[in-house]
Parts: sequence; structure tokens; C-alpha cells
Amino acid sequence: MEYRQLGQTGLKLSILGFGASGLGDVFGNIDESDGIRAVHTAIDLGINFIDVSPYYGLTKAERVLGTALKQIPRDAYYLATKVGRYGERDFDFSAARVIASVDESLKRLHVDYIDIIQCHDIEFGSLDQIINETIPALRDLQQTGKVRYVGISGLPLSVLHYVAQNSEIDTVLSYCHYTLNDTSMLKLIPYLKEWQIGVINASPFGMGLLTENKVPAWHPASAEIKAACAEAAQYCRSKGVAIAQLALQFSIANADITTTLVGITNPDQIKANVQCVGQALNQELLAEVQHILAPIRDVSWPSGREHDKEFQFTIYG
Ligand code: NAD
Repeated sequence: MEYRQLGQTGLKLSILGFGASGLGDVFGNIDESDGIRAVHTAIDLGINFIDVSPYYGLTKAERVLGTALKQIPRDAYYLATKVGRYGERDFDFSAARVIASVDESLKRLHVDYIDIIQCHDIEFGSLDQIINETIPALRDLQQTGKVRYVGISGLPLSVLHYVAQNSEIDTVLSYCHYTLNDTSMLKLIPYLKEWQIGVINASPFGMGLLTENKVPAWHPASAEIKAACAEAAQYCRSKGVAIAQLALQFSIANADITTTLVGITNPDQIKANVQCVGQALNQELLAEVQHILAPIRDVSWPSGREHDKEFQFTIYG
């Protein structure tokens, strides 16, 4: 396993991180014992960063992860969870709610501190509230030792940029924007580096688009994106390569990204993904696959209130 420094936090994270949303059945029902063994296998293989949220499986992911963590020494991993999102349309970024939320997560996870607490999917909240109320409340909570660092997560890069520029945060988690078909996160990274904010990338498979599995029904990508990714997967298969392998190698190769969170639901997946670390990226296949994906390059989908007036700014604005 390789490790990289996360901004100014002093945390040195494995370049592959454990995304625990799947433990909440986000990608289909899982066998809880498989999920628990997946966490233990990940730690055994050198992964030291785990990301979860109360939202995933409406607290189930935190509960299953908590059961797994009971059997692991607390200094064997860094743990990130989130506040503010509690259902598909259930958001509350008020100071009182996020403070209570941290206590609830600590209980479910069976730990007495969280390494990184993140405001979850900030594009659905009021950015004024997140900057002036939520983040200061989490900073106050730092004094109690319940959380060590404060971050944000979301999809629209312009929203992440705006809040990073206008608040005191340690980390940014961006997802689906550094993959074979979408590298728009490259616009945001130079700013985060300048501001010494830790860079966390999630969803190297575009939440399942770049795997051979069936894309979940809730997936927000357009039919055109899904079709292009399926064509790319088929092309990789014809060359004897699983597209997931190429996709992961591509994402972890960027040294400006500290860690890439992969959604894991069983021990075999984590073993397959860890095997990708250190293997050379097949540049010829990468170029061919990116050619197939060119028509949908950097095409995403709307998320949150980004089309509201309040959100009409760009990353360059
Ligand atoms: P992902 O791109 O990592 O895809 C996950 C899917 O790929 C799952 O169906 C998983 O079973 C499958 N998979 C994993 N390894 C595979 C392999 N080797 N071959 C084939 N399929 C494989 O998407 P994700 O799970 O959404 O993202 C990873 C993590 O990032 C999440 O679990 C979560 O922790 C975090 N995340 C956070 C946010 C946010 O904060 N807003 C958003 C997205 C993701």
C-alpha cells in the first residue's frame, strides 16, 4: 500500500480508502458478515482510511461498520463520517442538529472520536448557513476532542470551491469527478493545494458506471453516459481487462489526490482493488477507453440547488 499526506492535517492516508456506503445496502442488499470481513481484510491489507455517513442505509452503514470496528484497535485506522444529510430529501445543517449527530455517530461506530467530520452534500443546504453556522459549530466541537478535522463533501465543484474559499476547512471530498470519463476535479485541485486543504476523491467507478455490474436504478447519470460507459466496459472485456481495474489505477495515479474512496461490500472486492495498487497503468488501453468516452467527457448531472440563483457562480468566479 502507498500512503500520502492529507493537506495540513498530518494524517497520512492509504491512497485507496474504504467507502462504507455499501454497508448500508446502497448498491443492493449485502450479507453483513461479508461487510464486516471486508473491513477487517481492508485493514489487514494496509488500508487506513474509512468513510461513512449516517445517511448511508439510514444509519445502517454506520451500525455495520461499528460492529466491525469493535474488533480493531482505534489507532489502526482514520475514520471519517458526516453530518447534515439524513435521507434523500432530509437535510439539517443547523448547529444543534450536527452536534447531536456527531454524538449519535460516535455511539453507532463504537468510537470516542471521529478523525474527519464532513458536511454531507452541501449543495443541498444553504451555503450561508454552512459557512456561518455549521462549520463554526464543528470547529467548536474540535475543542472537546470528539472530532479532529472538519471537511465538506458534495458533487458540484463550484459549490465546493465557494465554501472552501469562504470558510476554514481541512478537507474536501469530491466524487465522480476524477474518473476515466470525468476529470473535471482537475479544475478544483490547484485551489485546494494553494489553500492547503486535503484532497479526497471518491467513486472512481462513477458509482458503478465503470464496472461490469448492473448500474443501480437510482443512478443519476443520463442514458447516454450509461451507454458510453457500458461500451467502454465491453471494449476492456474484449482486451481481457476488467474496466474497474483500469478505472481504479487511473484515479490513484494522480499524486495530487491523497486518497480515493472505493465502495466495498465484500472481502474479494477489496483484495481485487488492493492488487491494482502498484500495477502499471496500461497507457494504450487508457487512451483507447478515453477515446470511447470522449463524447461524454466531463458530462455530469445536476445535484442539489446548483441551478438556484444562490448557486450561480463558477469555479473561476
Ligand atoms: P464507486 O465508484 O466506488 O463504486 C462502487 C461500486 O463498485 C459498488 O457497487 C461496488 O460493489 C463496486 N465495486 C467495488 N470494487 C469493485 C471491483 N473491483 N470490481 C467491480 N465492482 C467493484 O462508488 P461509491 O461507493 O459511491 O463511492 C465510494 C465511497 O465514496 C462511498 O462508499 C462513500 O464512502 C464515498 N462517497 C461520498 C460521497 C459524498 O460524501 N457525497 C458521494 C459518493 C461517494
